[in-house]
Amino acid sequence: MTALPKSEPDSRLEIIQLRSLQPGPRLIVTGAVHGNETAGTIAIRRMIEELRNKDLARGSVTFVPIVNVRAYNLGQRAVDANLNRDLREHAAPVTYEDHVANVICPLLREHDVLLDLHSFRRGDFPFVLVGPVNNTGEIEPFNRQAEEQALALALGLEHMVYGWLTANGAAAIGREAALGGAPANVSHGVGMTEYMRSQGGYALTVECGQHDDPNGPEVGYQMIAATLGHLGIVTDWPPRPRPRVTGIRIAAALLKQQEDETLAADFQNFDKLAAGDVITQTRAGPAQRAPSDGYILFPAQHSSVGDKMAYFAEPSARFG
Ligand SMILES: [Zn+2]
Repeated sequence: MTALPKSEPDSRLEIIQLRSLQPGPRLIVTGAVHGNETAGTIAIRRMIEELRNKDLARGSVTFVPIVNVRAYNLGQRAVDANLNRDLREHAAPVTYEDHVANVICPLLREHDVLLDLHSFRRGDFPFVLVGPVNNTGEIEPFNRQAEEQALALALGLEHMVYGWLTANGAAAIGREAALGGAPANVSHGVGMTEYMRSQGGYALTVECGQHDDPNGPEVGYQMIAATLGHLGIVTDWPPRPRPRVTGIRIAAALLKQQEDETLAADFQNFDKLAAGDVITQTRAGPAQRAPSDGYILFPAQHSSVGDKMAYFAEPSARFG
């Protein structure tokens, strides 16, 4: 895919909304929360054109093709800060992302359902990130599991992953404890979908494929269409076929513990691990090992001590 120079005005967000005359679910679809992940942007723009000639049966759909405009122009993940970490409004905004958050957070609150489209660095196939099961715990209380999970299944993706905030919360607690027992900053793991759930909605992240996968925009488009159909906003698109689902629970964030610690292999998303397999190593030898049979998720080779090198995930029967 050829990278074209991008020069979107970065002092504002483009927000396009279609409202049915009949009440119904209020869906928001976002792209390029990470500026270098453009599959969602292309998919959203295609869907906006498609919907210009279509009726909406009920509800509304709002599109934000590019959330982090300045990072998008730069072809970077972020400008100053990752929008998908510690997302909240800022009374005294400092960074570019603080200003974006002050627009995107109130916008999310005006909706019931979020579909957030991303892409990833290393891996072969798209997958969906789902929220927690219903719970009243402190990290991510939630009571809309049934609706969220039904939408996730309607997307028709084989791989369904959950446990993001729980794993990050545990990692934050572990990290703070290692630094002297200060209170853990669980909100570090709060991104677009976690914010949406914290405000009473429900939300899915779809990782549409590898950043440069030419099929990514097509996947994103199919995800938007499936969501509009499932919610009854558009009624005449056929549902997607439903494959046998592989459920995966993110069990732990693997933090870099030593300066010379690196991933032990050129891992990709969903590479399989057997219990005891070496995940990270130092010059002295193996460092962290798989605690059980499972998978690698979101490997990141270049990180500093205390940062996440990857996630360890386990098979889950949650989705049947
Ligand atoms: Zn992303």
